[in-house]
Amino acid sequence: MKELANTVSTPLRGTERLSAIDEFIRLSPDTDESSLANKRHFTASLRCVIADSPMRSYLKQSKGHSGYWACDRCIQKGEICGDGSRVIVMRNVNAPLRNDADFLSYHVNDFSNDDHLDPNHISPFVRLNHPMVTGFVIDPMHTMIDGAFGRRLIGFASVPGEGKLSKTQLAEVNTRIAVFKSWKVNDFDRYVENLNGCGNYKMHVKRQFLYYHLYPVFEGILPDIDLNHIMMLQYSMLLLGSFESKPVHNSDIIEAQKILNMYAVELSERDIPCRFVSHQITHMPQDVAKYKCGTEKLSAFQYESFLIFFRRSLRSGNLPTEQLRNRLVEKKKYQLPTTASGVIIDNKVQLLLEAKRKSNACAPIQYHHKGENLPKKMPNNFCALSDGSIIVCSDFVYDDVNVSHSVIVGRKFRCLQPAFVKPYLSSDYGIYLGSNLSEVTERWPVTNVTAKIQAFPRRPHGKPNLGDKNQEWYLIPLRHTIKNVLWNPRWKTELGLTGGEEHEQVF
Ligand SMILES: [Zn+2]
Repeated sequence: MKELANTVSTPLRGTERLSAIDEFIRLSPDTDESSLANKRHFTASLRCVIADSPMRSYLKQSKGHSGYWACDRCIQKGEICGDGSRVIVMRNVNAPLRNDADFLSYHVNDFSNDDHLDPNHISPFVRLNHPMVTGFVIDPMHTMIDGAFGRRLIGFASVPGEGKLSKTQLAEVNTRIAVFKSWKVNDFDRYVENLNGCGNYKMHVKRQFLYYHLYPVFEGILPDIDLNHIMMLQYSMLLLGSFESKPVHNSDIIEAQKILNMYAVELSERDIPCRFVSHQITHMPQDVAKYKCGTEKLSAFQYESFLIFFRRSLRSGNLPTEQLRNRLVEKKKYQLPTTASGVIIDNKVQLLLEAKRKSNACAPIQYHHKGENLPKKMPNNFCALSDGSIIVCSDFVYDDVNVSHSVIVGRKFRCLQPAFVKPYLSSDYGIYLGSNLSEVTERWPVTNVTAKIQAFPRRPHGKPNLGDKNQEWYLIPLRHTIKNVLWNPRWKTELGLTGGEEHEQVF
């Protein structure tokens, strides 16, 4: 987006060069001026802009996130807080919302002291007729995961006024984190490291922490009231559909709004500054409703890996939109199954060979030809079945003629109970505390598997193992694998398998 912004603000260097905005106007299906329309091979329109808040304010030419009138979704003046460092807090969760139609009026005038815009510097996006409020998404990666959540972790690790843990508590947290490392499933590339270093966690690690580690790491260490409070962030992400591509049910959006407002208000009640990002999460439900998809689908995550790609293509400043479109077509190619070295797999023989090599970490239970070394390997062999049970696979009986007739052999947790009841009933989202693993192995059709499970030992001491009858296990479905656990969807297609819902999003 930075390069896009540069192109927007750079004056045209030659008559043949168009800025991104001019090019969008040329490619817009609404432009029927023949001199522009005749020369194009395709049309393009801008659906939304996904960017962090400094970039949003730059593109919109609105107040930056440290300004008093910074919120780009509601009209409220922030308050200054703290003596030494100047922090702007936004406490009001019921301020009047901004709207697209009134965007240009959000500056100081006879009727308002809203200092959101400078009327002398109007964003070039206005020329596109782009919705200037709702067309700029409040990106969950920067706002929720890095912003609101990341900041709370830093508070627990090191900020006295923001819930800093005692030395003993921190040591216990770090012990759990260290044990959980050996239970990390191969869907995640990185380990969650010591909480003391959480300021340097990568974005993916923070997301992993928010969805999976949060409760198991802090349970019994944080007071329940504080644990319930930070768990509201996890709950709201689930309510907002997380990785779901389909529209989120309205009642869930309303509940998420309620929970996020409550989170922001309770932050102020704890005397923790409700900073810009912690306030802005209260606006995330608006985007989920407008764009009709789960919040992670509106995240900058999926573009982060391609930033260099985009930068290169936009650097020349020549036909940037056309270049973007071409790069996106190429990006699709790169999402094909690849070998570990990145070579695109384009035939079945190669596919089977690669599957045998166990190369694709995204496939929750990987395809193994003739059942070789498949799901026996800990900790990647926990999965949920369609009847609600959770099993640990110990073998895989491969059916050469019809892979869907293959059978999973494993043992079942005989006792499953909700892992927690506040701020939500964990079993509503498939999260359980499991124990009493059966000693007898059973067999299930491979098609019964509904999700891959991340398992963490509860309050571990020493080296937890599955044979320990007293050990309880947090069993948390990997959100991106639900109903799509057997194989990467593309592999499935290659093998002529059908059925099951396909989710393309992977970590
Ligand atoms: Zn606001």
